[in-house]
Amino acid sequence: MSALPLLSMPSDADLRRLIHFSASDGRIWLAGQRMLLLHAAALSSLRREMMDSMGREHTRRVLLRAGFAAGESDATLARKVRPNAQLLEAFLVGPQLHMLEGAVQVTPERFELDLEADHYLGMYRWDHSWEVETHVRHFGRQTEPVCWMLLGYASGYTSGFFGRPVFYKETSCHACGDEPCRIEGRFSHEWPDREELAREYDADPMLIQIGELKSQVEALRTQLDAADEAGPLVGQAKSFGAAVDLLRRAAPTQVTVLLTGETGVGKERFARALHNMSTRAGKPFVAVNCAALPGELIESELFGAEKGAFTGAAAARPGRFERADGGTLLLDELGELPLPAQAKLLRVLQTGEVERLGATLPRKVDVRVVAATNVDLEAAVAAGRFRRDLMYRLNVYPIRIPPLRERADDIEALAIHLLERFAARHGKRVPGFTDRALDAMRHHAWPGNVRELENLIERGVILSSPGEPVDAQALFPTMPIIGTTLNEAGDLEAGSGSGDGDGDSDRQLFDEMRRHGLDLEGLEDRLLQEAVRRSGGNLAAAARLLGITRPQLSYRLQRRREASTPAPDHGDQGDHG
Ligand SMILES: [Zn+2]
Repeated sequence: MSALPLLSMPSDADLRRLIHFSASDGRIWLAGQRMLLLHAAALSSLRREMMDSMGREHTRRVLLRAGFAAGESDATLARKVRPNAQLLEAFLVGPQLHMLEGAVQVTPERFELDLEADHYLGMYRWDHSWEVETHVRHFGRQTEPVCWMLLGYASGYTSGFFGRPVFYKETSCHACGDEPCRIEGRFSHEWPDREELAREYDADPMLIQIGELKSQVEALRTQLDAADEAGPLVGQAKSFGAAVDLLRRAAPTQVTVLLTGETGVGKERFARALHNMSTRAGKPFVAVNCAALPGELIESELFGAEKGAFTGAAAARPGRFERADGGTLLLDELGELPLPAQAKLLRVLQTGEVERLGATLPRKVDVRVVAATNVDLEAAVAAGRFRRDLMYRLNVYPIRIPPLRERADDIEALAIHLLERFAARHGKRVPGFTDRALDAMRHHAWPGNVRELENLIERGVILSSPGEPVDAQALFPTMPIIGTTLNEAGDLEAGSGSGDGDGDSDRQLFDEMRRHGLDLEGLEDRLLQEAVRRSGGNLAAAARLLGITRPQLSYRLQRRREASTPAPDHGDQGDHG
């Protein structure tokens, strides 16, 4: 048993020789361990931020463990540095390194070691602890010890040195008063509260919790994104609720869904919501607009192409089917798919295999297809533009999304939802809509449906002054022209644009026509063009806007074109429809 009431430190010259400043390559070595010459202020700021964000208890434990790692690391040096020294002298490498590293001044006050009796008691006095200095500076006089990293170091070093668990306690700390810091260490089994002490060095449950919370936040964020995608799925209208209900019930199955509805009703959002609610949510969602792709490219886009399959195919590339593998593929405006591509699509749906252009072997794909169309597929089949077998294949689970004008009661809720979204996107505080704006929205026909509403509201948010509600004028910039007439005194008079009696609006309409120098044919011409423009060139939709049939519209367009001067024409009908 070696018990020394007062110890004097051996020379630390051997330790100093182990320190190498290798300035040319930016490294400092302590006998092969990389060290850092760190500003105490940096650690101090780190400590303060940890205290602020994690609280005292978690900070203490994190620093305790960081100190433990440093101590353990220094313990590996001790035996090597003083191989022939007495046990005690070798042991003092730790306290001496701790001093050299600038952490604290250590004075051993008691050292009892009896390995046969399984006994260790080490008592040390600490002066100039860096932790006391920084902690008191930021947080003032303390009631509990604060030399956490130092204490961890002592435990780590001694445990490493003896090869068995040793724990220290800080019995007094200078942060709490005039007494210097003092620590006392024993073998783990010599502490009655050893289990509690050991737990302090376990991975922090808070950090585990943070890890778990992080993954929960990720999961919630995905759900929120899904909810935002499904934003326009907000709605109380019965027809709309029925469509959403059908969608929800289809989601967990693998059924091929056919979404029908006018342009802009939100078919892609429905498809995304379906994907997000399905078991495929973690896999890709790929959307293809069949009307937007040139006919000659559509097959390679959908099914992929091998290198050299056609002119311009410089490298092999996968099609959308392959890219959507495991997930969902939305085929939007399916009615526009050319007949040869329809045949290939049917084969893919039947076999679950795609064949790239120019390929000899098919590839297996696992894709849920959602088709969307704003044309009547039955009519397209009757007209010979769509394959009947493909229609049957796709029309297993049709969901009709109602146009916005059939959900007049939903407009306000939807508008507010969109207002919040766009206000956030544009970093603007917009408190809502004026009554005039709400009224104008209620009376608008919404030929472009939810997409039109979205566009108007985004424009309204951009045009409105910060802090002011969005007014009708910001939503419908043309409204003042339509809704304003000259009164008898020649002053501008604002009308609501829609709230007036029939007689008034008739008079306004007639005045407008004359003001624009239009005759009846000129007016029809303008109306036809505007309807075609608003429906994005879709003649069926344009016809619906005008309350006529598609053939009637085609006929009128044709007649107008013939009536106009034969000068450079707009070319094919595609320009108009
Ligand atoms: Zn202390």
